[in-house]
Amino acid sequence: EKAKQQSLTDVLARAADFYKAQLRKSPRAVAYLKGRGLTGQIAARFGLGYAPEGWRSLASGFPSYDDPQLVESGLVITPDVEPGEDAKRYDRFRDRVMFPIRNVQGEVIGFGGRVLDKGEPKYLNSPETPVFHKGRELYGLYEARTGLRQRGYALVVEGYMDVVALAQHGFDNAVATLGTACTADHVHKLFRFTESVVFSFDGDAAGRRAAVRALEAALPHATETRTVRFLFLPPEHDPDSYVRDLGAEAFERCVEGAVPLSRQLYTVASEGCDLGTPEGRARMLKQAHPLWSLLPEGLLRRQLLGDLARQGQMAEVELQALWLGEPAAAA
Ligand code: ATP
Ligand code: MN
Ligand code: MN
Ligand code: MN
Repeated sequence: EKAKQQSLTDVLARAADFYKAQLRKSPRAVAYLKGRGLTGQIAARFGLGYAPEGWRSLASGFPSYDDPQLVESGLVITPDVEPGEDAKRYDRFRDRVMFPIRNVQGEVIGFGGRVLDKGEPKYLNSPETPVFHKGRELYGLYEARTGLRQRGYALVVEGYMDVVALAQHGFDNAVATLGTACTADHVHKLFRFTESVVFSFDGDAAGRRAAVRALEAALPHATETRTVRFLFLPPEHDPDSYVRDLGAEAFERCVEGAVPLSRQLYTVASEGCDLGTPEGRARMLKQAHPLWSLLPEGLLRRQLLGDLARQGQMAEVELQALWLGEPAAAA
């Protein structure tokens, strides 16, 4: 099993080298990355590459295109054919800028590939393989590990380009989920590297929805010694466009203005509630309960119970009785 995984990561490392070499030979792909404001240094730091246009470009980088490892690593696609009819195999990634995805050990475990111009899908990811599990990995975590220590917090963003563009502007502490929602597993992994996480969202409706899911993912790992904050960009921006258009200092101010988890919980719970009425406050508390319940036992959990009681204008002992099952203190 271990040996098999090793041979898959060997194939993927070799492919990453191949794509890197192809980038140097493709003025069009280099121009694309330059056009997005990236220097060669940052491209090298993230090992960016280019998958050429042909259907079997990898054949020139590998001794045998028929190697089953190429299929198992997700780099080559085999349509369902009769045994021996291997002629129909082809490269998954064609004419795309390639973002190698590394695990925390620094091994390449998969790729994201972006079209250079228009084209669908805009991003293509490696499929799940024995070494690549989208729900567990964070793009950029390996590259960010020293930045996380130096800056003291992690920025969680949506996309590959967000991570790379932020690094270009000095924020070498950004990671992205791989086209999936942020899960409690992701948050757990991040907290092995830092005590502070700032989730960054586009200011649009999709961003607000993603923020609710991130809140749910973060709550099980939130304690009084950890900091979780939420940053909302203006609707027309993502971190990449924001930092490019407005600069690192402006982004830094966004980070400073990020709202704490407690506030975000309250905001989400208050959705659709008229807090000027007892009905609205009761509804807010009802909506807050499943979120608050995700918190682990401890001080933060108790503290938020008190805060929510005050915000709902309810006696704390009453809410305790309801949520902790403790009898309300006898008068
Ligand atoms: P760019 O700035 O290069 O246009 P983006 O990162 O801003 O890209 P978004 O549309 O905001 O792209 O998507 C955010 C992330 O979601 C992407 O980085 C990618 O991981 C994932 N994603 C987007 N579109 C797709 C897709 N069609 N298939 C799979 N994943 C996708
Ligand atoms: Mn968006
Ligand atoms: Mn985006
Ligand atoms: Mn973008």
